[in-house]
Amino acid sequence: MQDHLATSKLAPARSTGSSSGASSPTAAPTAAASRAGGSQGASSPDQPLNDVVELSSQEAPKNPRAQLADQRERDQLVNGMLETTGPGAPTGEEAQSLRNSLGVVDAGTLRFLQQQGLKVGVVSPGEDLYQMGVLREVDLAGLQAKLPEHQAGIDAIDARLDQKFGPQMAELTSKMQGLAANDPKRQELDLQLARLQGQRTYELSQGMESAGIPARPLMPPLSAKEASNNDLAMMATQVVESPLPTAAMADIHGATTPERLKEFEQLMVGLNGERLQVARQEGLEGLKARVAAAKPEDRERLQGYLDAAMADPTQIPIDHRAHNIVVPDLHYVEKGRLGMHDKLSLANWGDGASVAAPVVDPKTGEGSVLNGQYFEDRHRILVRDSRVGSDTPIHELGHAIEGGVQKADPAFYAQFEPRLMEAYQAARQGTTVSTYAQASPREYIAEGVAHFYEDPKALKATDPALFALTQELIAKSSALGNR
Ligand SMILES: [Zn+2]
Repeated sequence: MQDHLATSKLAPARSTGSSSGASSPTAAPTAAASRAGGSQGASSPDQPLNDVVELSSQEAPKNPRAQLADQRERDQLVNGMLETTGPGAPTGEEAQSLRNSLGVVDAGTLRFLQQQGLKVGVVSPGEDLYQMGVLREVDLAGLQAKLPEHQAGIDAIDARLDQKFGPQMAELTSKMQGLAANDPKRQELDLQLARLQGQRTYELSQGMESAGIPARPLMPPLSAKEASNNDLAMMATQVVESPLPTAAMADIHGATTPERLKEFEQLMVGLNGERLQVARQEGLEGLKARVAAAKPEDRERLQGYLDAAMADPTQIPIDHRAHNIVVPDLHYVEKGRLGMHDKLSLANWGDGASVAAPVVDPKTGEGSVLNGQYFEDRHRILVRDSRVGSDTPIHELGHAIEGGVQKADPAFYAQFEPRLMEAYQAARQGTTVSTYAQASPREYIAEGVAHFYEDPKALKATDPALFALTQELIAKSSALGNR
């Protein structure tokens, strides 16, 4: 153990570059292994200072003994973050790998994260996020009690958006009058209207989110390629056709038993109120008109739909886009009720590390594997057991640093974020440290942190703007931890 410390965790830990700079969470070298390997011939503690060391030069130990003490402190800080009980607790070997991966982070930042209550857990085969206690059940009683309040809130946002988008949408609709469906001019107007509708739905979704209303439009507003954050991108993969009966909406949310169907329907009525009634009225009229105009061979089938809709309102097809129908952020899984984010987390981790569960990459739209995840509101990082020695832990730590600084120093973050967005937009068009960094501003800075500690010189050479931003962020987290 002492030997391991001496050869792999002294000065070279910070100055040994990763052999593979272009790493990503899905295909990464093992940072710890490269540090351990690269450190064999570089045992002098008096190596030229690199940028990382310069950052914390006031506290950078000048001799091997002090350096060892510093490393011990960082190891202890990492140890304090590891989950100690339950399925998420790392094994002794995994804990060592995590100390190797995360022990490169400066003590101030580690202290800051520990003060925030950050915990790091490991997901192993056969474990799921439910048994690990990571997921949060939807508070059904709380949601039901607040339905009138939520409905009023949604109506207010909807009315505001009617004022904003109504005139323009009405103008487009009137221009379409008399144009044949295959007229290119009509098609262009259709497209403009759809874009406007998409923007309206987006603003409805954002408005509800910032008002703390746990519901969303059924129709995701953005395409996966346009979405700038992961949740929206994942939503956008679930594009839902309109019209649709609420029974089918319930089904999409996993409400498959009669009890769950009833519960979901009550929430739909409570959240949408009059808008749902009007939409149903219209849906029923539309169905009647179709039956009346049907060709003889279609009539029986359509009459069947109409009969079902008359008998059960949840079977009435409704145009959820035209009427801005919202659905509760409630998804049923076998064991209970989860919000969309948790439902996706559960699905994406699968049954522990044994399943390579598919996650849609927001940039490419292709499936990949979830190796780590940061749960900001729960101060928790999860790492797949096969990834404890890779750059996944430090990438996730990057998310925690950004989230923590945002919360601890809003004034700093308010002037930091616009510059992050600007650099991210530039990196999206050009080159940066990894493809994953181009996925969203959040992934961009998380990749920045991972590469900053792995190989700061390479980061500076590849993406100087990201290097500077990461350095600034870490200086801030370090200062917060050293207060
Ligand atoms: Zn990430």
